[in-house]
Amino acid sequence: MRFYTVLINSEEKVAASLDGKTLYVLDEFKDMNALIAAGGVQAIPKDARKVNAETVKLLSPIPRPQQDVLCLGINYTAHAEEAERFSKESFGGERPYPIFFSKRVCYSQGTDAPIPAYTGLVDSLDYECELGVVIGKDAKNVKREDVQDYIFGYTIVNDVSARNLQTRHKQWYFGKSLDGFTPMGPCIVSADEFAFPPKQMIACRVNGEVRQDSSTGNLITGIVDIIAMLSEGMTLKAGTVIATGTPAGVGMGMKPPTFLKPGDVVECEIEGIGVLRNCVEE
Ligand code: MG
Repeated sequence: MRFYTVLINSEEKVAASLDGKTLYVLDEFKDMNALIAAGGVQAIPKDARKVNAETVKLLSPIPRPQQDVLCLGINYTAHAEEAERFSKESFGGERPYPIFFSKRVCYSQGTDAPIPAYTGLVDSLDYECELGVVIGKDAKNVKREDVQDYIFGYTIVNDVSARNLQTRHKQWYFGKSLDGFTPMGPCIVSADEFAFPPKQMIACRVNGEVRQDSSTGNLITGIVDIIAMLSEGMTLKAGTVIATGTPAGVGMGMKPPTFLKPGDVVECEIEGIGVLRNCVEE
């Protein structure tokens, strides 16, 4: 099942769909967090209103995450190499354990909404296409063999990053948390639609040019380890989004580094979920 947050007559509604074309409005849930807390729906309710996906505005599936989005840094081998080449001080060194950090998200925009450019503050705007894992129920001390039971579904996160802020402050929080730096979407696909852990094609295009092309099967620290490790020390509340890291091919890894500019169109795609498309504000 695919779950959407959509705008209908200026009201945010959640909707379910089997094909991504016809959406069925789920009026009984006030938002996606309520739908997740209820465990989603297994079938389309018979009396649900039908709308065409092309005639409504798709928002981020979780426009206002209840807490920061949790993130993995340097979680694909080839991306580790390109990041270290860009800044050995910021991205180099031994990493026996995964890098965890978070993104503050006041409001996550959906597909087709702009990414702010912050001209004057940001001189190195970059994209990171990532598989987002959505936690389905409060998770604490989850055993590795039980991790799958705690996953509601998957989405696409663009972990937009200001490289100059990320390296200047020697801490990633600010450079990844500017307003508009967490586009998500176009929907959440329920976990039962994928093998576990999912091994899906993940790609990113800028103005149609393929920049990232990998598989979510290539994570250095996989979903089982991420959730087992984090939940050993913190409760992962239902509705938490974990951005699992980005493959090689970001702008800072290009030779020479090439960053986003106003008007650029970034398309993040994960097989089985769809395309998250955002244009950098002019
Ligand atoms: Mg990232």
